[in-house]
Amino acid sequence: MERENEAGSPGDAEAGSDGGERRLLRELVETAGFHLLRLPGELEREFRAHRRALARRQIQRFWPLVLAAFAAAIPMAFFTGVVQREALFPVALGLAGLAVPIALVVLGNVHPRLERHAPLLDVTAAFLGLASTHAVTAITEDLPVHRHIAEHAVILVTLATCSIANQSVRSAMAVCASGVAFIVAFAFVTGLSPDWTLFPFYALGSLLVGSIVGVTSEIRERTVFVQERLLALEKHELDQMSRALAALSREDALTGLPNRRYMDEVLAREWASCMRDRAPLGLLFVDVDHFKRFNDRNGHAAGDACLRRIADALRSEAFRSTDFVARYGGEEFVGILPRTNLEGVEAVANRFLEAVDRLTIAHGASDVAPHVTISIGVASAEPDEHGSPEDLLARADAALYRAKALGRHRVVTDGEAREARVDGEAADAPWLEHA
Ligand code: GH3
Ligand code: MG
Ligand code: MG
Repeated sequence: MERENEAGSPGDAEAGSDGGERRLLRELVETAGFHLLRLPGELEREFRAHRRALARRQIQRFWPLVLAAFAAAIPMAFFTGVVQREALFPVALGLAGLAVPIALVVLGNVHPRLERHAPLLDVTAAFLGLASTHAVTAITEDLPVHRHIAEHAVILVTLATCSIANQSVRSAMAVCASGVAFIVAFAFVTGLSPDWTLFPFYALGSLLVGSIVGVTSEIRERTVFVQERLLALEKHELDQMSRALAALSREDALTGLPNRRYMDEVLAREWASCMRDRAPLGLLFVDVDHFKRFNDRNGHAAGDACLRRIADALRSEAFRSTDFVARYGGEEFVGILPRTNLEGVEAVANRFLEAVDRLTIAHGASDVAPHVTISIGVASAEPDEHGSPEDLLARADAALYRAKALGRHRVVTDGEAREARVDGEAADAPWLEHA
C-alpha cells in the first residue's frame, strides 16, 4: 500500500493563507501533469478521502449487479463445457480467485466496521485476483481452452485493478507488478509455468495499457478535484468581497455610521413594518449649529474630527437594537426610532443634545454656547397608506428649521405630532417610554 504523504511538502507553507492556497491551486491546474499524482500536503489527504467516498458510493450502488454477473458465470461454465473432470481444480481456483476478491472489495466498502480497512482489502483483493488467474495459466498446460480463458482473465483483472479499482494508480501498478513477480516465482518454485511466448502480450501488455489508462484517468480526476477546490475558494472569496462591498456601500466613510442610502432603505422598511403593526415611528433630524463657522475657524480637519465625535456620541445614545442613527449628509444626522411614542422620541432627542454638550468641543465662533451644540427636529407618525416616509422626514426637517429659528441648541417637536399627542391618540398606544 502507498504510504501517506509526508508532512512538510513544498505546498504546505503556501497553503497557509487563502491567497497562498489559491496561488498553489492555480499553479497545479495550469501545469497539470505527472506531478499531480501526488498533491502537496493536506490536499493529497483530502483528495484520497474524496476519491474513496466516491468509490464507496459507486460500490454500494453496484455490488448487487457485480454479484449477479458473477453468479451467472457459474452455470455458464457448466453449459459451455468448461467444467470437466480433469479441469476441476483450475476451474475452482479460477472461480475462487475471482469470488474472494469481489467479496473483499464489497465487504470493505459496504460493511461500516470494515470501512477503515477498505484500502488494504482492495489491494489484497487485486493481488489475490491476479495471483490466482496467473496461477491458473500455469497449471493448465494440457488444457489449452482453460489456459486461454485464464490469460484473458489476467488481462481483465489487470485492467480492472489499474483503472476501475478505487486505489491510487501507484498502488495499482505495484499490485500488478507483484502479480507478475508472483507468477515468475511460482514457475521457478513449482516448475509449472505459463506460456512464456504469450506472457509478455497478455501480462506485461495489459500492465502497460492499464498503467497508461490509470495514470491518465487519475491525472484527470485530480485536475478536476483541484479545479473544484479552486472554484470553491474563489467563490468563497467573491462572497466575502461582495459582503464587504455591500457593507462599504452602506457606510459613511468619515463617521462609520450608516449612510444616506442605507438610511432610506431602513426608513422604508421600518415604515412598512410599523404600518403592519399599527405602531408609531419616530424620527429625529439633527444638525450641528454654526458648523460653517467652526470649519472656518478651526479648519476642515478639525471639522471632520468634530463630526466623528458627534457621530460616536449619537450612536452611543441609541440604546434599542432597532434604533438607527445615520449620517444624512454634511453636518446632519438622522435618527429612526421604530415603535417609540412621541415622549420616547423627545427623550432620545434630549439625550442626543446633552451627549453633544458633554463633549464640550470648544467653538469660539458660536453665539449659542462656548462649545459645539446641535439642534434637533422631532417628528412621529403612525404610518398608514396616506402618509409616506418622505413626509415624516420633511416634518422633522421643518421642526429642525424652527429649532434653528428659535435660537438653535434645542429640540423642537413637529406640530402635527404634538397635536396628535394633545388629542390623546398616541397616549393610548401601548408603547413603552424609551429607557
Ligand atoms: P446652522 O447652524 O444654521 O446649521 O449653520 P451651519 O454653518 O452649521 O450650516 P451651513 O449649512 O451653512 O453649513 C454647513 C457646513 O458644514 C458647511 C460645510 O463646510 C460643513 N460641512 C459639511 N460636511 C462636512 C464635512 O464632511 N466635513 C467638514 N469638516 N465640514 C463639513
Ligand atoms: Mg445643515
Ligand atoms: Mg448646521
